[in-house]
Amino acid sequence: MNTLSSDHYIGRFAPSPTGPLHFGSMVAALASYLDAKAHNGRWLVRLEDVDESRCKPEFADDILRTLSTFGLQWDGQVIVQSQRKPAYEQALARLSGQSHTYACGCSRREIADSAAAGIEGPVYPGTCRCQQINSHVLPQAIRVLTHDDPIMFTDLIQGEYTQRIESAIGDFIIKRRDGLFAYQLAVVVDDAAQGITHIVRGADLIDSTARQIHLQRLLGLPTPYYLHIPVVTNAAGQKLSKQTLAAGIGTAAVNRILIHALTHLRQTTAALHEQMPTSKLLQLASAQWQIALIPHVRGVPLLEVC
Ligand code: GLU
Repeated sequence: MNTLSSDHYIGRFAPSPTGPLHFGSMVAALASYLDAKAHNGRWLVRLEDVDESRCKPEFADDILRTLSTFGLQWDGQVIVQSQRKPAYEQALARLSGQSHTYACGCSRREIADSAAAGIEGPVYPGTCRCQQINSHVLPQAIRVLTHDDPIMFTDLIQGEYTQRIESAIGDFIIKRRDGLFAYQLAVVVDDAAQGITHIVRGADLIDSTARQIHLQRLLGLPTPYYLHIPVVTNAAGQKLSKQTLAAGIGTAAVNRILIHALTHLRQTTAALHEQMPTSKLLQLASAQWQIALIPHVRGVPLLEVC
């Protein structure tokens, strides 16, 4: 274990309240919690309900209740993205003021018809880059300019990662045509506002990291350390999620689920028992937490552990 003090480590769990916590999100919550505790750090929770069309307050309440039941007590106040629009607006104004953005009126169909395939679907071909779209013609999305200089970072679990955003993704949307801010902008603004130093999250988000670093650089914000843990996959190799109909974990077998989550992360569980107080189990798990044991892969099937 290293000896960073809590002044130096601030971690977070940032669920989107689109459904109850499933086993995959519990693994991410637990990993970020234990890594923070193992470093004597603070652990914050942020509700990422920026996509208001998909999020529901009842899921947010349910997620917070489940975290508490599992003994994962956060520090400070829970930040809620739907209440943070002025901060995103300010970041957007800063980017636009420095000519890093442009308005885009392209439809999905137009993009699909003219684009090469990228890592997340069609690469935006830059159609509207040089067109001064009349700002009175609505609705429009706002995109941020990208480039093809490699963005590199060392993920503390997955290792070296490089992405050339312009050819892998293209100029990406930071404000949607329906007026909602995009995840990529909101997450960068909030991680900086909360002073996050370490981001522990599922490896399904590793491909977003270069976009986030790009925005951090444009906005003059620090880049945290990143640790992308293997996501839990179903028998078909898909990430457990609401879309793959992952069930909520319930709160009946708290210690058993925590031990399964630790097993998924290949942590030492020999001293942990279903009958011990959950607080004790978490204390032992954080004392024994070892990043080095986590597999350096992007996904591990659920069936291997449960
Ligand atoms: N809100 C995102 C999710 O639930 C996580 C974002 C992040 O950890 O950066 O998938």
